[in-house]
Amino acid sequence: MNPIEFAVWTIRGVWGRPSLFKGPAKGAVLHHSVTNLVDPPDPVADAQAVEEVIWRRRIKSFFQMDAYSFKVAQDGTAFVVRGYKYRNGANRRTKLLGPLLFNRNTLSICFIGNYHPNVAGVATLTPTDIQLRAAAKIIRDGIASGDIVADPWIGPHSDLHATACCGDLLRADIDTIRDYVNNPPEETTVQVLPEAQQAADDGIWTRFDAAGVDTAQQPATREHASIMALRARDQAIAEIPSAPTEVIAAIPPAPTAALDAMATQLATQASIIGALSDRLSAVDATLTAALARIDTLETGTGPTDSRSEVLQVQIVGIGTPA
Ligand SMILES: [Zn+2]
Repeated sequence: MNPIEFAVWTIRGVWGRPSLFKGPAKGAVLHHSVTNLVDPPDPVADAQAVEEVIWRRRIKSFFQMDAYSFKVAQDGTAFVVRGYKYRNGANRRTKLLGPLLFNRNTLSICFIGNYHPNVAGVATLTPTDIQLRAAAKIIRDGIASGDIVADPWIGPHSDLHATACCGDLLRADIDTIRDYVNNPPEETTVQVLPEAQQAADDGIWTRFDAAGVDTAQQPATREHASIMALRARDQAIAEIPSAPTEVIAAIPPAPTAALDAMATQLATQASIIGALSDRLSAVDATLTAALARIDTLETGTGPTDSRSEVLQVQIVGIGTPA
């Protein structure tokens, strides 16, 4: 079974500007989503729930879209997320030691669900065989198309970053994935996961039903559904109304003359206030000088000239000598 195209299942789409993928990838890094699955089972809804988690963390973690390259559900349904179009955004590397793998030279495969024991509030799952095969098939197809190097590194997120991801229970099965990559199990190359295909298809048709698309108008194949979804998106973009030019034209011009008059008035008032302020400063300086002189006269401790003034005042007080 081929992975379900991004446009078919995504709700949020590409909301930012993810970098483009430049292959071939040197490694496939395995993750788990640490999300609870919906009940009754619906792999499309589960894939959308993971996208929603990434969407809520988009500001803090600079996510430009769902961060993984691919996602795989318990029933073997695989989903293209960034695929080989956009550079994966989940393989943050903070460890100094270990393989020299980064977002730019790897892809990421997220196992939908929680595969680590005792995580509060989240059920612990064991990877299913069909899910391990789906992950291996993604890697095998990537090698065949030249998007992944031959004999790539395959390992857990925890080899690059201080995290429990992809969980102990999935980590225990990585050897099996490697084995499936190197020795494809016969049934996946002949009969391709019919139940998973059916489940995924049902999910798609449910979405067309929910959107009110008449049964006769619904696509016959999954590929057709993918094309219809893309067309619907293009149509929606085409229907966005253009700018309301008449309304913009009807907005009256700014009253420039009135604004100019107000500006002139304000400038005049500002210069008057400036002049008043200068005069107040001058009066203040005069008063300060006068106060200083009064101080000197009262205490008689000023310079010589001041003392002679004090003397004159005393003389005047006594009167003209006989
Ligand atoms: Zn991870």
